This record gives sequence, structure tokens and C-alpha cells, in this order.
Amino acid sequence: MTIYFNNGVYADKETMKVSIDDRGYYFGDGVYEVVKVYDGKLYTAEEHFTRFLQSAKKIRLDLPYTIEEFTEIAKKLAVDNGIVEGHVYIQATRGAAPRMHNFPGEDVVPMITAYAIHNPRPLSKIKEGVAVKTTDDIRWLRCDIKSLNLLGNVLAKQEAYEAGCAEAVFVRDGIVTEGSSSNMFGVKDGILYTHPATNLILNGITRRVVLKLCAKHSIGVMEEPFTLEQFNEMDELFLTSTTSEITPIVSVDGKPVGEGVPGRVTERLQQVFEETIHELKME
Ligand code: PMP
Repeated sequence: MTIYFNNGVYADKETMKVSIDDRGYYFGDGVYEVVKVYDGKLYTAEEHFTRFLQSAKKIRLDLPYTIEEFTEIAKKLAVDNGIVEGHVYIQATRGAAPRMHNFPGEDVVPMITAYAIHNPRPLSKIKEGVAVKTTDDIRWLRCDIKSLNLLGNVLAKQEAYEAGCAEAVFVRDGIVTEGSSSNMFGVKDGILYTHPATNLILNGITRRVVLKLCAKHSIGVMEEPFTLEQFNEMDELFLTSTTSEITPIVSVDGKPVGEGVPGRVTERLQQVFEETIHELKME
């Protein structure tokens, strides 16, 4: 696998070395992005790399590339690795320096690595839906930053997997915030509900695509916090993410959602989302 490595180097993954002093390794001191590749083309790359730069800025990390340059790196990785359906992963840490909490000196440059990998669309989950498990949102208060610090998310996802579920749903002070690696949506009486884009969630790129599609197709949206009780009484539920796209949720904590099958509004949104992928293929 050809990967991108600091300072414009493209090389085989096996030949690359990261310092034991890297601050990503010590502190999770960095940010990342995942960009989907459909038919060899990047999907919503501009939105992803804009968010990448915003995440970096929020942790006071200056990145040496523009959105356009990051897009070129991602494109090259997809092409060089022959990726037709998959994703590009990119991360930046605050670089390598002897371990101390405060920032290293100006001479320490960020460590940027990226790769492209084959990853087929999870079509059976998209069609049939998944089970989810609710759990306490124990994370920090800057969930809007796509930080490498994912311990709260990792523990929640593992708890869900051990309960036979595909995703964990975070609940903070009785409010459903988001999934461990996805955004949460509910449908009640034809209206779509999702947590507003505050510091308590990551404003997903797929979430934004869904909201745009709702505006375009006249589906009402309430970007308002909703409780776990409301969540449990939704007619339909689904989650979104770059790799999961729009995945219906058919059970929560072992109880069926509605009829226990994907809902009509969810399926309609999946259909129009699919069209955005086809449009990309025709570009
Ligand atoms: N929330 C969290 C915590 C996530 O990790 C992700 C996936 N990166 C999302 C939401 C969905 O974001 P996106 O649609 O940009 O993949």
C-alpha cells in the first residue's frame, strides 16, 4: 500500500516509521478525516478537508496545506492504490517531541499521514438496518472536533458490539447526542429530528448531506435536542456516517423501532442519497 507520509513523501506503508515520541501516540494530540471514494472519485472532499482544517485550528494546530492540496493528496492515493470503492484516511498530529503536555517548540512540525483503502459499501446493513445500544455519553465537551482522542467512542462501540449491536447511541443528561461513530436521526409524524450542531456532536458531513436533501425534497426538519424517551418513541430511526451512509436502525436496546423494519422516510432519503453518488459517477 502506498501511503502519504510527512513532507510530501509517498512510499510503501512497510517502509514508514513514526517516532515513539509522536504526540498522537502519547496524547491523541491530533485530528483526522475519512473521505469516501465511489467509483474512483472522492465524495464531498471539500467539506471533509474544510472540516479537517477547522478541527486543526480548534486544537491550535497549523497545517501546511490548503483544502485543494489535501484533495490532491487524497486523489493521488486513491488512484495510485487503484481504489474504486473505499475511503481515504488522513490524520495530523502535533508532531514528535519528548513527552510533555504543553506544546513543543516551533521547530516541531505536524506529522501527517494518509492512506487509501478498499472498503465496499455495507449494502446489507443499509438495506436491512441495524440494532443499537444506548450508553452514557462520557466524552469531553468538544465533540465538534474530529480529534484522535476517541477513547469514549471506542469504549462505547465495544460495549455495543458485546451486546450484539452495530452502534452505540450516546445519551448525555437524558438527551440523545450522536452515535459512537455516526449521527443520529429520528422521524416522528413525517418530521426529521436530529441533535443541533453544537459542541456536543460532530457535525457529520453525511448529516449535512441529509439535511440538504430534506430541504430539497420538502421533508421537515427539527434540529433540536430530543430525549431518550422521545428517541424510543420515534416512528423511524437511522444513523449516518461517511462509511455507513444512511443506515436504518431497527431496534434500540432490544426493542423494535416501529414495525422493526426500515421506515418509509428513511428509505426515501436513502434513494435520494444514492442519486448523489450516481451524479458523482457521471461527473
Ligand atoms: N459522529 C462521530 C462521533 C463520528 O465519529 C462520525 C464519523 N466520523 C460521525 C458523527 C459522522 O460524520 P461523517 O458523516 O462526517 O462521517
